[in-house]
Amino acid sequence: MQMSIHALDDEKPYLEIQNLSKSFGNFQALKDISLKINDGDFVCFLGPSGCGKTTLLRCIAGLENQNSGNVYQQQKDISKLPPSSRDFGIVFQSYALFPNLTVFSNIDYGLINKKWKKSDIADRVLGLLKMVGLEEHSSKYPSQLSGGEQQRVALARALATSPGLLLLDEPLSALDAKVRIRLRKQIKDLHRSLQLTTIMVTHDQEEAQSMADRIFVMNAGEIIQSGSPKEIYHKANSPFIADFIGITNFLDAKVLSVDQVQIREKVLKCDTSKFEHNSFVQLAIRPESIKVVEKSNKFRNQISGHLADIEFLGSFQRLYIVISEFNDQTLMVDVGASSDKNEAFTLGQIVTIELPKNAITVYSHG
Ligand code: ATP
Repeated sequence: MQMSIHALDDEKPYLEIQNLSKSFGNFQALKDISLKINDGDFVCFLGPSGCGKTTLLRCIAGLENQNSGNVYQQQKDISKLPPSSRDFGIVFQSYALFPNLTVFSNIDYGLINKKWKKSDIADRVLGLLKMVGLEEHSSKYPSQLSGGEQQRVALARALATSPGLLLLDEPLSALDAKVRIRLRKQIKDLHRSLQLTTIMVTHDQEEAQSMADRIFVMNAGEIIQSGSPKEIYHKANSPFIADFIGITNFLDAKVLSVDQVQIREKVLKCDTSKFEHNSFVQLAIRPESIKVVEKSNKFRNQISGHLADIEFLGSFQRLYIVISEFNDQTLMVDVGASSDKNEAFTLGQIVTIELPKNAITVYSHG
């Protein structure tokens, strides 16, 4: 039971999942998932392809039936309700607009089904079109719109009936990079103004980091960590997450004492108080946490290597430094792109770096 890991303090979450499992034949896609989501939160299910994110979202919508476990929305057990009796709006990756209907008719569809009055429908659709910035496009057909515009129509359609919950299944992944970033911001702004509880499925860690209040990281049908984007980034609870979220250097080491490890002949300082003497551990350190320094005799977790490659990445540069003392392992080090000192890097030069001890996370090995 994972309740203790993924529960919030809030006694009355907007959405709660208890011990939910789902199999397709012999394959278990979701394994005993329990989680709580607060009213008004923007939450992301994040994980590699095939980890079960979409299946979990579809179980919340009633588009898949779980084998066991329950889903509660505002304390009401909705586990067995068909999708049409649940309170949500959904946007899929593939727009899923009706090609033979205009933008207006794509949006008013749900309202007609709910037997809204004609005049109310017109007001509502025009309001929604304004909200997503598409007032001018109301009589166009989906094929006459760009991918980003189609996704905004899909968003307006999902919001038409004022659902209590918005479900977004990889809504941005079919779009090109620039449109994706613009729409990311529009969805966030929309969420901020509507305060609507939102769950978005994504495999893109940067997208989750930039949009979510809270991230549930999934792998192989399980939630393996949940927390704010900052918590997940800075306190990844496993090497898998440290590697999946952002870029990380890993080093194999052996524990010497409560604050020292050894990598071949080199001794580094870091907090190993939770690990046994002589045990094998994995150190993780982010490229931006490593500093390029002048070589000094003082012991400050310094090591030198030769600069094997430089990647210019716009606002920063990534140096690839091969450390012979670490059996020629390459460390990535991020430095600013614009200072004169950084521009002076040349391939092959010897660079001294410092691994600040507080920036090193230690994981047990294997
Ligand atoms: P992606 O990012 O690639 O969409 P995901 O994390 O959303 O991945 P799911 O679509 O939830 O993954 O699928 C989880 C697992 O369940 C996958 O291995 C998938 O092949 C399997 N699966 C999903 N739907 C079905 C189905 N209808 N029948 C059989 N297997 C399925």
